[in-house]
Amino acid sequence: MREEGKAALEARYRARSLWLDGIEGSLAPRPSLPGDLECDVAIVGAGFTGLWAAYHLARLQPDLRVVVCEREIAGFGPSGRNGGWVSGGLIGSADTYEREKGHDAVLRAYRETYAAVDHVGEAVEREGIDCGFRKGGSLFVATTKPQLARLRARQRGLDAIGLGEEDSRILSPEESNAVVGVEGCLESSYSPHCARVDPGRLVRGLADACERLGVAIYERTPVTDLGPRRVVTPHGTVRADAVLQATESYSVELPRQRLRYLPLYSLMIATEPLPGHVWDEIGWTDGVVVSDMRHLFFYAQRTRDGRIAIGGRGAPYRLRRPIDPENERNADVRARLERVIRRHFPTAASARITHHWGGPLGVPRDWSMAVHFDRETGFGWAGGYAGHGVVAANIAGRTLADLVLDRDTELVHLPWVGHRARRWEPEPLRFVASRAIVRILGSADRSEDATDRTARRTRLLAPVLPPH
Ligand SMILES: Cc1cc2nc3c(=O)[nH]c(=O)nc-3n(C[C@H](O)[C@H](O)[C@H](O)COP(=O)(O)OP(=O)(O)OC[C@H]3O[C@@H](n4cnc5c(N)ncnc54)[C@H](O)[C@@H]3O)c2cc1C
Repeated sequence: MREEGKAALEARYRARSLWLDGIEGSLAPRPSLPGDLECDVAIVGAGFTGLWAAYHLARLQPDLRVVVCEREIAGFGPSGRNGGWVSGGLIGSADTYEREKGHDAVLRAYRETYAAVDHVGEAVEREGIDCGFRKGGSLFVATTKPQLARLRARQRGLDAIGLGEEDSRILSPEESNAVVGVEGCLESSYSPHCARVDPGRLVRGLADACERLGVAIYERTPVTDLGPRRVVTPHGTVRADAVLQATESYSVELPRQRLRYLPLYSLMIATEPLPGHVWDEIGWTDGVVVSDMRHLFFYAQRTRDGRIAIGGRGAPYRLRRPIDPENERNADVRARLERVIRRHFPTAASARITHHWGGPLGVPRDWSMAVHFDRETGFGWAGGYAGHGVVAANIAGRTLADLVLDRDTELVHLPWVGHRARRWEPEPLRFVASRAIVRILGSADRSEDATDRTARRTRLLAPVLPPH
């Protein structure tokens, strides 16, 4: 890798997202691994998964020697770029988990994700992380009849699992508008189990908290190979009793893991800070995050500094460079997100767009997350959050910590522990599947917007989308 100057490096990191751009201190990397080293637990990747694992290991057993190797800087990946939804809810297919572990396990999993939202909030409080964590809940709005049908089906699904009104409930347009005024809302569902956060500040604050607990974080330390008890980097090899891989979507760049995930990009834009009267006119309760029920849905938050930050999927997968900085911006997705602002938040229509960014999601073949730890070899990994990793990574990190320390907690019995998805098909089939997902979902949305009738073409995607 060519040596970048300090200023260029800082600019490259800030350009990754609104959140990293807004970090007040320097983003200068911590020192790299100084040479060969021995420790108790070596973690690869300083995103939420790796850092929550390190944080809990260090809290549970303060004398444990924990080392984190990060290719760039803490929070460089999606953990420092996401929509800031700290959102409870199943990360994967209820059908898949129920088949493998039974109905009660699915219900327990939901409950754990809800509790994890507060878990994150408590850690933020304990560590004094100034990241705008505010638990206002989430609002899913339907703005067409097909979306309404999906919204109600989703609610029926949650009811059938055994969740109650206190977890998710349908709101009339009037009730909905009292929470967030979304133009064209026919009905919505509201869940209190969600917080808004500035994820850049959270992940960077978490890295600092880990260091205060004695965790060693080495940045600009790319791992070129890893396996039981060893982590190989150009700066030296780390030998450890336990090795945890926390590289999520980037895992596809590591030897033997190319087909573990489909790295699909999710992209975001942010407006300039909006004046108070615009927020009053929209009627957007601070701390509530909003999404819709399109196939290529949008997700949005009112940021701690008064912007609309909104994201969506739909960027085309590139066969030769599935993970590449060039994939982080896309004119079509940006234009679609700008249209969403104009259509659903017209008072903010003239706001300037100041940031556009994105990052890769780790999508497993069955869209269901997994946490693994092999006691024999001491090797573990977690990921496959398919774009819902903020809470999932907290749960996965804590679960990995419990597994390493051989603690028999509720977490180690959740349905994703030990879950295995089959690999994606080799290229060009994975490429064809990903292009089909984006094209068909996009065209179904356009058709539904134009006709107000459910587009049936999404059935074509049944073999590559998760069972409902
Ligand atoms: C635009 C966008 C919006 C999103 N919005 C939300 C949201 O609102 N809510 C939600 O729940 N989820 C959201 N997600 C998903 C969520 O951000 C991720 O699931 C989560 O951050 C994954 O965390 P992680 O720690 O597992 O992985 P990452 O954040 O990807 O961290 C992995 C780290 O490993 C490092 N790494 C990779 N390879 C190597 C190597 N070889 N050697 C050393 N280090 C390496 C990377 O540099 C990176 O820092 C969004 C994602 C994106 C891209």
